[in-house]
Amino acid sequence: MSDNREQLLDLSVEAEGSEERFSQVRNWFRSTGWSMADPTVYDLYYDKHPADAFGPRTLAASADANGSYSFVSGRDYYFAGEGTGGPVCRRCTVQLPLELIVPLVSEWYDGGPEPRLACPDCSWTGLFGDWDLRSCMAVASFAVIIDTGTAGYSPELTMTLLEGLRTNLGGRWVYINKYI
Ligand SMILES: [Zn+2]
Repeated sequence: MSDNREQLLDLSVEAEGSEERFSQVRNWFRSTGWSMADPTVYDLYYDKHPADAFGPRTLAASADANGSYSFVSGRDYYFAGEGTGGPVCRRCTVQLPLELIVPLVSEWYDGGPEPRLACPDCSWTGLFGDWDLRSCMAVASFAVIIDTGTAGYSPELTMTLLEGLRTNLGGRWVYINKYI
């Protein structure tokens, strides 16, 4: 049996600021109708972290009422699960080999700065989080994890949420889909 999670990471947050960010982000999800409080809801992969039920706006956009939003504060490592690959260039869409970036992400996780990468094909450079990381990995100190339930992979819902978060709360939001 397979499972799916949509991982929305805010790379602008440091570990010390992650609790404050949690309050802002959860307030936004609730006040906009994307989520609603429900003390019985939790994600079995994130059961130590607070979670909300889907609000009316999510229910209108998703097939499954049994999903959840988990709010994860604190520095952690996120990856795409089965089939994790390298980051994809935003300009020419070439994908860097995974073995090239694993040591860089490892240093990042150990407390180093976010790596900067140069594309070997078009020479575009960008911070790690500015590459397309949908099937890759990243280190982040705040994340929203969406369990979409039986609706599975939900890029449309995810893109709508990312746009709303960026517009209303700012930050550096990055998306990694997780196939478990
Ligand atoms: Zn490129």
